[in-house]
Amino acid sequence: MKRYKIVELLGNTGRELLGQEIIVKGWVRAFRSNRFIQLNDGSCISVIQAVIDFELFDEALLRRITTASALSLTGKLVESIGSGQALELQVSAIEILGDANPDEVQKTVMQPKRHSLEFLREQAHLRFRTNTFGAVFRIRHAVAYAIHKFFNDRGFFYLHTPIITGSDAEGAGEMFRVTNLDPKNPPLNEDGSVNFKDDFFGKQVNLTVSGQLEAELAALALGQVYTFGPTFRAENSNTSRHLAEFWMIEPEVAFNDLKDNMDLTEDFLKYICSYILENCAEDLKFLNDRDAQEQTQKPQHERNELSLIERIEFVINNPFKRLTYTEAIEVLLNSNHYKKKKFKYDVSWGIDLQSEHERYLVEKEFKCPVILTDYPAQIKAFYMRLNEDGKTVAAMDVLFPGIGEIVGGSQREERYDILHKKCEEFGIHPEELWWYMDTRKFGTVPHAGFGLGFERMVMFVTGMSNIRDVIPFPRTPQNAEF
Ligand code: ATP
Ligand code: MN
Repeated sequence: MKRYKIVELLGNTGRELLGQEIIVKGWVRAFRSNRFIQLNDGSCISVIQAVIDFELFDEALLRRITTASALSLTGKLVESIGSGQALELQVSAIEILGDANPDEVQKTVMQPKRHSLEFLREQAHLRFRTNTFGAVFRIRHAVAYAIHKFFNDRGFFYLHTPIITGSDAEGAGEMFRVTNLDPKNPPLNEDGSVNFKDDFFGKQVNLTVSGQLEAELAALALGQVYTFGPTFRAENSNTSRHLAEFWMIEPEVAFNDLKDNMDLTEDFLKYICSYILENCAEDLKFLNDRDAQEQTQKPQHERNELSLIERIEFVINNPFKRLTYTEAIEVLLNSNHYKKKKFKYDVSWGIDLQSEHERYLVEKEFKCPVILTDYPAQIKAFYMRLNEDGKTVAAMDVLFPGIGEIVGGSQREERYDILHKKCEEFGIHPEELWWYMDTRKFGTVPHAGFGLGFERMVMFVTGMSNIRDVIPFPRTPQNAEF
């Protein structure tokens, strides 16, 4: 006899199997009246109802069927007479695969009642069993798949860039060092500093903060590439949008300028949103209702006028607002919010925009996703292409409602001399980046790319408001449990 997954039974396959004996395996969500088992197997959010004729089974066996226990049930698939589900299983054989102690279950998130997200985080190993996290992680998978599909369909090549990197051109001070030296007794130089020549790689190495520099090398040969890998930042930002370990997608395209880069980003983000709407309807419906419930708990002025599904549709159906950094500064300076001194941080040309400024632009001023371009050179990375004005660079940040920055990108500086000068201005030794500089000597071309924070995208499409709740095992300052 064949085992079917619940997602199959609730679709066309289930209709075809009516009247037949089949096997389902899963975990008990509820067992009511010694008669109705709600079984979930993780394939979808729905449960299948299994009906037991208790006279057919040993009482001791039935007593072992408790919330969270694992079962293999054999039975006939029939149309359900009760409301709530179309099909149910008339059980003829029960095998208990794994028992669960009801007293222990009481103390966990598997106890079927509403738990706080904080409590669920403490039990990250068990929270997969809840409806919310089942839905979030199925959608997380679908977002990853949509990303690969988007790029594959457009002829991009998936590139694996190193996780251990010797270049510290980016994010100096924000990197995690990788070493196998004895911390108590490291080899020392004459001046007392640690001698990294004796370390595993013969030099100081770190966990990567971005695969971009390496992706550029490949783009300048393969044309269009993208990375999708883990990224590490030792920044001590304990916010609801930062992780110390997160996943980033970084496409890099030869011959693209900033405008092409913006068009690609917009198509890409809209594609992901459409894919989730079309392929994750059941989980999304659940999260939509959950989000609506959450909204009612918030004070009036923080409530979102749009439901989760409407917010996703809004992104698909509306063009992103594009404006320059300089224009954005004007908008902020002219806002009533500024005049009434409601911003905590001051506004003037040259500042790095704070999240309150970004949120104002997206949520109050334009009420749609915003792409800000052409930032002052000194607040952006050395590799961004210098504009004609000599003081701004061809950078772009995409800001999303409720999230803030979701994408950061730029057209890259392809001119050797200017790049060399920028390195010096930023205190970067071009010799250490010889392999990067080299590409500007052998058939250099305009090229552009961006980085999408994977978890921030998952936050947007699931409506979860803390980034720790969209990654299975979050790593944040002072926390690396599991
Ligand atoms: P932020 O200003 O929000 O810290 P950033 O300017 O440091 O972001 P980039 O270095 O441009 O971000 O990284 C590209 C993208 O990676 C960001 O747009 C964001 O979506 C994501 N990202 C950056 N830092 C983190 C983090 N610590 N945790 C999760 N995602 C992040
Ligand atoms: Mn950051």
